[in-house]
Amino acid sequence: MSIEFNADVIVIGAGPAGISAALEVARGGKKVVLLERAKYPGSKNMYGGAVYTSALQEIFKDDFDSIPYERVINTHSWVFLNDTGSFELTYKNDEAKAALAIKRFNLEAWMIEIAKKQGVYYAPNTLVKKLIHQDGAVIGVETELEQYYAPIVILADGVNSILARDIGLKDEYISEDVIISVKETLKLDKKTIEERFNLKEDLSNGINKQYFGNQIGALKGTKNLFMMSYLYTFKDTVMIGVGANLEDLSKNRLNINDVLDEVKKHPDIAPLIKDAQRTEYSAHLIPEGGYKKMPKLVSDGVIIAGDAAGFVNSVHFEGTNFALISGKLAGEAALFALNNNDFSEGSLSIYRKKLEKSFILKDLYSYRNIITRLKERSDSIENYYPQKIKELFEIITSANCISKSSQIKKYIKEFLTKRKFLELIKDMNMVFRSILDILLGK
Ligand SMILES: Cc1cc2nc3c(=O)[nH]c(=O)nc-3n(C[C@H](O)[C@H](O)[C@H](O)COP(=O)(O)OP(=O)(O)OC[C@H]3O[C@@H](n4cnc5c(N)ncnc54)[C@H](O)[C@@H]3O)c2cc1C
Repeated sequence: MSIEFNADVIVIGAGPAGISAALEVARGGKKVVLLERAKYPGSKNMYGGAVYTSALQEIFKDDFDSIPYERVINTHSWVFLNDTGSFELTYKNDEAKAALAIKRFNLEAWMIEIAKKQGVYYAPNTLVKKLIHQDGAVIGVETELEQYYAPIVILADGVNSILARDIGLKDEYISEDVIISVKETLKLDKKTIEERFNLKEDLSNGINKQYFGNQIGALKGTKNLFMMSYLYTFKDTVMIGVGANLEDLSKNRLNINDVLDEVKKHPDIAPLIKDAQRTEYSAHLIPEGGYKKMPKLVSDGVIIAGDAAGFVNSVHFEGTNFALISGKLAGEAALFALNNNDFSEGSLSIYRKKLEKSFILKDLYSYRNIITRLKERSDSIENYYPQKIKELFEIITSANCISKSSQIKKYIKEFLTKRKFLELIKDMNMVFRSILDILLGK
């Protein structure tokens, strides 16, 4: 049966991956349809708050000056929480512009407008129910209302990607391979944010804090729970959230919403968000399986990009950059196949080669064991060291009429005996092997 194609390429999902894939195809002079189930741009998309400038500039360089950011994120803090306080490491660079705080509905709306101007046909409020096949190849999609046909379909439908699962490209997630995260948008007036976080009025600086430490409030006694909380400053809102592995949560019989409540009550965090009004509450999954759980990336007539392919570096909260660039490379692979009139898996496999040359597969490969190792040592990172750091600083900062020498000797003795020496070796092993993995990466 000969098929009448409506487009050269159909892209499913208008997140960063789908928009950048569609743009690339349109820029190559081909007809592309971008289908999105959400009525309004960005309403189904979620993240902590930082989008990375370098990937955005690569794709939107001519329009970059109009990007609707709220603050430049130039200050990064890693905070180890203990029950009563914290230890914080801060990196600040007034000239850094690597990350911008942008609300997702503004980001997606801005990207979609640019894509439409450059020829992408955007169809919001369009849920794709299934993929259409012929002779084993994907040749179109079925929405609630109609069918669209194209020789190439790009799946950029996010972490769940039911469509990729339906055609056997990817397995269903098991709970150990996903993080569940909840996030609140908290409204405060602009001046209050600037006073509390020591920020400038001209929006040229902003903060991202990443928190570790799970022995806080009602979470005390939690075991083997690797969780990361985060806070981002926007113009007149603060985003605060927490993410943890689904399996670890269920083993501890914890609900992620309750974890966030405990984080918000911590004495270090509560004053930062005092009197703020919650304007949004959202939850989302983050793929964590990385390189080892990567799906099959192409098949006849189909390519997967972004979160749908599991392209996230959850150690550094990087996902939008992976989505934008993998989308672009998926678009390039589609153009290659169209120009050669060959939509087979073999032809589309150029996509994987492009990913291998980019930071995407290089980073996923070098980080392939790191999350597992961090999780294995979660009691050290989240419990033991935050507590030991507290004890050390208690000695240093309290003039308690006991000689420092005796206190520090006692501290070191306890460090090496009470905590089994073997545990220390395991922690060091985790650190060195992770560094080696990064250094020896592809
Ligand atoms: C809590 C949290 C914090 C994060 N923080 C950061 C951060 O600070 N910085 C960062 O870079 N990354 C962060 N990430 C990761 C980042 O948000 C994702 O990696 C990125 O959004 C992935 O983009 P995507 O286009 O692949 O998928 P998505 O943005 O999820 O887009 C998928 C789109 O597909 C649509 N869709 C799905 N199914 C269908 C269907 N059947 N038919 C039609 N449309 C469909 C959805 O509605 C959605 O719009 C975070 C993620 C989470 C969850």
